[in-house]
Amino acid sequence: MENKKPTLSRRDSVRYLKGVGPVLSERLAEKSILTVEDLIYHIPYRYEDRRDLKRISKLALGDKAVVAGKIVAAGKTGRRYRPGFEAVIDDGTGVLSLKWFRMPGSYLEDKLTKGVTVVASQTVSKYGLLLQMAHPELEILGEGEELDSLSFGRIVPIYSLPAGFSQKSFRNLVDQVLENAGDKLAELLPAEIKSQREWPEVATALRNVHFPPADANLEELQNLRTLWHRRLYYQEFFILELALALSHKGVTYEKAFPMRAGEHKAAQLRALLSFSLTAAQERVIAEIKTDLAKSRPMHRLLQGDVGSGKTIVALFCALTALDAGLQVAVMAPSEVLAEQHWHNLHRWLDQLGITCGLLTSGVRGEDREKILSRVKDGSMQLLVGTQALIQEKIEFQRLGLAVIDEQHRFGVQERSKLKAKGAERPPHILVMTATPIPRSLAMTAYGDLDISILDQMPVGRKPPRTVLLPDKKIENAWGEIKRRLANAEQAFIVYPLVEESAKLELHDATQKFEELSREVFPDFRLGLIHGRMPPEQKEAVMEKFRKNEISVLIATTVIEVGIDVPNANTMVIEHAERFGLSQLHQLRGRVGRSEKESVCYLVAHEPLTDIAKDRLKTIAETTDGFKIAEADLRLRGPGEFLGTRQSGLPPFRFADLLRDIKELALARNDAFAWVETANLDLPQHAELKKEMLKKYGRMIHLARVG
Ligand code: ADP
Ligand code: MG
Repeated sequence: MENKKPTLSRRDSVRYLKGVGPVLSERLAEKSILTVEDLIYHIPYRYEDRRDLKRISKLALGDKAVVAGKIVAAGKTGRRYRPGFEAVIDDGTGVLSLKWFRMPGSYLEDKLTKGVTVVASQTVSKYGLLLQMAHPELEILGEGEELDSLSFGRIVPIYSLPAGFSQKSFRNLVDQVLENAGDKLAELLPAEIKSQREWPEVATALRNVHFPPADANLEELQNLRTLWHRRLYYQEFFILELALALSHKGVTYEKAFPMRAGEHKAAQLRALLSFSLTAAQERVIAEIKTDLAKSRPMHRLLQGDVGSGKTIVALFCALTALDAGLQVAVMAPSEVLAEQHWHNLHRWLDQLGITCGLLTSGVRGEDREKILSRVKDGSMQLLVGTQALIQEKIEFQRLGLAVIDEQHRFGVQERSKLKAKGAERPPHILVMTATPIPRSLAMTAYGDLDISILDQMPVGRKPPRTVLLPDKKIENAWGEIKRRLANAEQAFIVYPLVEESAKLELHDATQKFEELSREVFPDFRLGLIHGRMPPEQKEAVMEKFRKNEISVLIATTVIEVGIDVPNANTMVIEHAERFGLSQLHQLRGRVGRSEKESVCYLVAHEPLTDIAKDRLKTIAETTDGFKIAEADLRLRGPGEFLGTRQSGLPPFRFADLLRDIKELALARNDAFAWVETANLDLPQHAELKKEMLKKYGRMIHLARVG
């Protein structure tokens, strides 16, 4: 009889597993596999159906088959300048040739030698009279390894391997560990959640994910979407959502100034407006006001496509705070935008008798001192500035609301900085963005925010017509612009770069400006604005454009966010193939802001990559910001989409935000409901709590102190 197996604990180091010594444990560590539990959670990335391993003699042309055999001959084939590789295998019933029409790489060449057993899987093709497999999927057995019941006659897991392991040796190791410790895995899901969702036990799920039963659904397996997989994704999401739910709840411990609105100023403003608010604007204003009336600080994200009218929503909310005797800060991502906000807001505010000021880097000396002291003594009620406001030494007397425009992330750290602005309580925070956030990201990266959506455009808006134009036909666009300029309308021309880069052969905005002024639009006034100009100069140009003293604005992407000049209703985007999807959407959103028909030309320069073609096609086909954002997320992935620096998105071990959104939605729903009544400190949740703190503790901690 065999010795009694030593009992394994799930926290044991892999180093003490049978067949793993110091060397292999190093290799495992490179894949972040340190403990027995890590190993069990290292799940296959695909499967191979070997329930029916074919005899070579039974193969027929066109079969998608798996065979196993010993190599009887192997070597280079083909001509010198185009070498290929061939290995002939024999399984006792016949021989089959495995072919590579280009060299498969030294890794394979070195291993495919006479006497080695391989498992090959591929559609059977024919070469002359002989059957063959071209570029097969291969599993190469180690020396002396035979196929056994783990690797044969079943659906077989294929792993991303640490160095030093073969598929078979890794499979055996996993099996050994599952046998010994599989039932000791911590059950992380609360029992009531598990039974409510009818999830299988974690041990069952993992066992079946590694070694699926013979009757498993192959398609679900190949998509990594079996019930067992989904349980693991759900679990992973649940832990994150729990942290987000707690962090969201943690904010409730802080006390803000509740604002029970006098409707006084709001009514005055309504009387001043030349338009009526959209139903979406009314709904969102009501949502925000409900938040503002609470003594828990609001932390809300307002998403509204470009031109959906976020500014006026912010203004109505500001009035609620002002009516309650509190101050408001409005912050924009750039000086140009801060100035624009100020222009738009102070007209209304003056009429309402509200004192407001603008603080940019251009405001210096005495003027600056005056503003700062009036903000401090409370006689200035509303302050507009860039986001530098939170960095500066500004003290408010009673800051009640901070509006942060054109930004989607406003983290805990920034929040606590705002809190230190002098008021005795943290302000309510409204973050606004025109970048629609795909649902999956709204539930993860932004999961601790409340979200309002402006899903309606002001009436009479016509989405811009979008025209894809090869650069040879750019004259069409110039012609259209001239017609419109003659009508006192205005236009934007956008270039991707500021300074000439010979290497990229891009048209440089400065040079283009001169060229266009001279050759294309000699009868009109052109203006130039780019990122390297000093703020005052930028603002001077913008001011002229707003007043229609400039007809055509040549710009780099500084005009991407927020600029609102309704009379400018034609846009030409040069080198459109170089812009990202969201960027194109933002740029295009600068036109289509009036009742006149607007048009956006996307000028593309050959050669175009497939991705660039994809992007241009998407942007030409839809103006729906959410569709565009989803497509963008798909093309770029979450990290890139959010910008790596500010992503804050935790890496998932198995789950995929795009593929597993159903489980994400379930987990979010369940976790947010669960924290309302559950007590995470109970002993039965100890493992769950530990795991959550390990992964997301920082986030929760910050929320508590922030
Ligand atoms: P964004 O959401 O892109 O920031 P803005 O707030 O700049 O959009 O609004 C775009 C333009 O639409 C502004 O000129 C604004 O005055 C106008 N606007 C806002 N709401 C309405 C409405 N309900 N009806 C008509 N025009 C509106
Ligand atoms: Mg805006």
